[in-house]
Amino acid sequence: MTLATELGYRLVEEFKADPYRITKYLEELYERVERIEPRVRAFITLRPLDEVVKEVEERIKRGDTEGPLFGLAVAVKDNICTRGIRTTCASRMLENFVPPYDATVIERLRRAGAVIIGKTNMDEFAMGSTTETSAFYPTRNPWNLDRVPGGSSGGSAAALAAGMATLALGSDTGGSIRNPAAFTATYGLKPTYGLVSRFGLVAYASSLDQIGPMARCVEDLAMLLSAISGHDPRDSTSLDAPPRDYLRLLREEWSREPRLRIGIARNLVEGSEEGVRRCVERALDALCSYHDCEDVEIPYPRHAVAAYYIVAMAEASSNLARYDGVRYGIEVGVEGRSWVEVFKEARTRGFGYEVRKRIALGAYVLSAGYRDAYYVKALRFRRLLKERLYGLFRRLDAIATPTMPILPPRLGELVSDPIRMYLSDVCTVIANLVGIPAISVPAGFSDGLPVGLQLMAPALEEVRLLYLAKFLQESLGFRNLVAEVV
Ligand code: GLN
Repeated sequence: MTLATELGYRLVEEFKADPYRITKYLEELYERVERIEPRVRAFITLRPLDEVVKEVEERIKRGDTEGPLFGLAVAVKDNICTRGIRTTCASRMLENFVPPYDATVIERLRRAGAVIIGKTNMDEFAMGSTTETSAFYPTRNPWNLDRVPGGSSGGSAAALAAGMATLALGSDTGGSIRNPAAFTATYGLKPTYGLVSRFGLVAYASSLDQIGPMARCVEDLAMLLSAISGHDPRDSTSLDAPPRDYLRLLREEWSREPRLRIGIARNLVEGSEEGVRRCVERALDALCSYHDCEDVEIPYPRHAVAAYYIVAMAEASSNLARYDGVRYGIEVGVEGRSWVEVFKEARTRGFGYEVRKRIALGAYVLSAGYRDAYYVKALRFRRLLKERLYGLFRRLDAIATPTMPILPPRLGELVSDPIRMYLSDVCTVIANLVGIPAISVPAGFSDGLPVGLQLMAPALEEVRLLYLAKFLQESLGFRNLVAEVV
């Protein structure tokens, strides 16, 4: 195995012994990128190799090599602000936006010694499930180039699956980390709402958004989560939780081998495509051969999708109001024109169709006369769902579902059918609405296409999810899967 496709937690050990191995690792990684990226297109911005190598070598010279992620190449979703590196949200609106500051997660990654190699493609402003609403180009699934890698963090997932990055960051408002993780046979975690700071994340729907780790094994996921999580006074929704070493906690839990009570969301399994169901059942057999499983029903899954889209669009219509072409956004001529003309041109040229549609629908559900019928009702449903789920958690440690009810679709298949696209989020939106952590684990392949299994747990039980994910990783053997892109 080349260094480029080795796992992160192994690499850090190797680099500790000889930090100059990092140069070789980065060279090998960029060789892969050069060979594979033209076909996959996971990145929007890629930093040049010599710049990245120089950054690492300078740190070695300074003796600044102690960070827990020292030398590891991280791909960052392009809605997370990086000082001096363009951050576009895959939108014409921010095509030339170079942030003057780092997001908190980026500051923490740099402090941990990680190297940011580039910014990854995504659905425009994270609105989508396939990475096809990107204003630039779609990303392709490294396991099958005719298929989408999922979304909206599709670039991050594809970079991992193709061995073009060791770790990656995504954001998850309704499934955007877990969906692409499932579609690319990688691991992705949406943390508890408030565990990871959102300072510097371009907001989509603030009551749902969460940044999270993506990787090719559970250990790397845990390591990355430790680096990015913890209280941040600059995010008012940040929880006052002390920093934790998730890799150590995972190993402790692993050696204790607790037998957990797991609810199988039978209705969501039954509602999935056959190929998905087969893989998920096999993974569940492995899980339930040791843990205590019982069938449960997730209440009102279709209502959850409706409530999610109402809340997400309402918040998006407010969050995206700032892109007016004056303070933010693409520049349009202002000389001698009314503000209405300027705003209209900026927002028509700057936003793609999906974003404009959501702003319009979001404004509609908030408008006088419709607010109670849609927005307030969705909020009420959200509270009900939370009560019901916590009701289940009174006797269950975790709930298992498929991550996605469908196999990775062909390019063009899902975006052209918005209702089907929105419904495909049925398993993932629950965790966002309720604010709980959820993880996607590779569960197998159907016709060569990856399938993911999702586990949800009560707030702040990330260690439990990592433990169960590792249980599956060891039983099924899906770790460090790298697609040979052909
Ligand atoms: N597919 C969902 C949406 O379009 C989720 C996106 C996300 O999590 N950012 O809203």
